[in-house]
Amino acid sequence: MILYNIKDKNEKVSFKEAMIRGIGSNNGLFFPESLPFFDNIENLLKTDFIPRSASIMGHLLKDEFSESLINNAINNAFNFPIKLVQVEENIFALELFHGPTLAFKDFGARFMAAMLGSESKEKTTIITATSGDTGAAVAHAFYNIPNTQVVILYPHGRISELQEKLFCTLGGNIHTIAVEGDFDSCQALVKQCFADTSLKLNINSANSINISRVLAQIMYYFEGVAQLKNKGKVVVSVPSGNFGNLTAGLFAKAMGLPIEAFIASTNNNDTVPRYLNNGIWQPKNTIATISNAMDVSEPNNWPRIEELSKQQKWSLNEILRSVAIDENQTKEAMIKLQKLGYIADPHSAIAYMGLKKCLKEDEVGIFLGTAHPAKFKNTVDQILATNIELPTAIEMVADKKILSKLIPNDYQSLKKHLPY
Ligand SMILES: *Cc1c(COP(=O)(O)O)cnc(C)c1O
Repeated sequence: MILYNIKDKNEKVSFKEAMIRGIGSNNGLFFPESLPFFDNIENLLKTDFIPRSASIMGHLLKDEFSESLINNAINNAFNFPIKLVQVEENIFALELFHGPTLAFKDFGARFMAAMLGSESKEKTTIITATSGDTGAAVAHAFYNIPNTQVVILYPHGRISELQEKLFCTLGGNIHTIAVEGDFDSCQALVKQCFADTSLKLNINSANSINISRVLAQIMYYFEGVAQLKNKGKVVVSVPSGNFGNLTAGLFAKAMGLPIEAFIASTNNNDTVPRYLNNGIWQPKNTIATISNAMDVSEPNNWPRIEELSKQQKWSLNEILRSVAIDENQTKEAMIKLQKLGYIADPHSAIAYMGLKKCLKEDEVGIFLGTAHPAKFKNTVDQILATNIELPTAIEMVADKKILSKLIPNDYQSLKKHLPY
């Protein structure tokens, strides 16, 4: 796969290089020069998840990796189930949170770790910003991997206690840094590391800007449509923050997966819904919400979506609907779902509400379940007046000590904490 830098189309790289560098010069995102189009979708959809994913990934990466390496990476990374659960007559939840850290980020992080692990013999430092769930997925995927140090920045006090426990209690090669700022400031600090030529580190970002993560996420869109089995026009609602997940969905559509349209469902951080309405890109200050993993006002992946719509000659308004769901509507959605017998975390509930607002009568809706409700136990229990059980992954860390360092939102302070 050849990729180019969106900000400088003359800068072309292989997938390997894009994965290792993360981002191109001038902070430009890498973008695939072309995507394969599958006209044998029916057959692909009849295949099981693992062999299907290996086959699609094989198409994408066959110039650079052997079939067996790709098969192994997919087998090791995607070793947990995906469940499609019917919630209403024409509405289904695609549960992507049955991996080790209980959020869909496990797909991308585990695949990236598997691919990088097959490559790097040099010492690598992974530097990543997280709005809550990437941190845990990356930390677990890279924990104890030789020659790899991991630095994770997150907004202090803005992620749930259990989210924090899942990745800030590991120690070893995992260094966690709480920044006095919001997610966008963490993201800005990571960008500064990449721009700093004086850093004597071989750094990589495992953020959702990393193309390896986006490619991994394509695979569960195929699985969702496969499990749904020909039920008509499919619309997928994606709870969106940094827009990596939606980018992957649109890639799947470009590759021939029959999805009629997507819904970008955001919380109060509504830069994209406003933009799609009035054509003005105007990020505001990030607002803290109960769907904290989506508290992003400058979504990093958006340029990829614009680029893809140009490449595919799509009119964005035809294939992408968008809606911002406020805090009250999020709670309302959770309560509605509870009445239907389904417990959802706030992020997944926003995607459900997106369907309730944008799904047409002749369509079937899938909303992505991006996190396990237990990851947000306090919020969920309080809103639903319930007491949900903790899965073992969380129970095991609930009493552990947080090992993070707290720093001001300032690059020099971060630099002091980078591992050498
Ligand atoms: C990261 C995350 C999102 C947002 O995904 P993006 O790819 O950043 O748009 C939504 N829900 C949960 C639970 C997340 O962890």
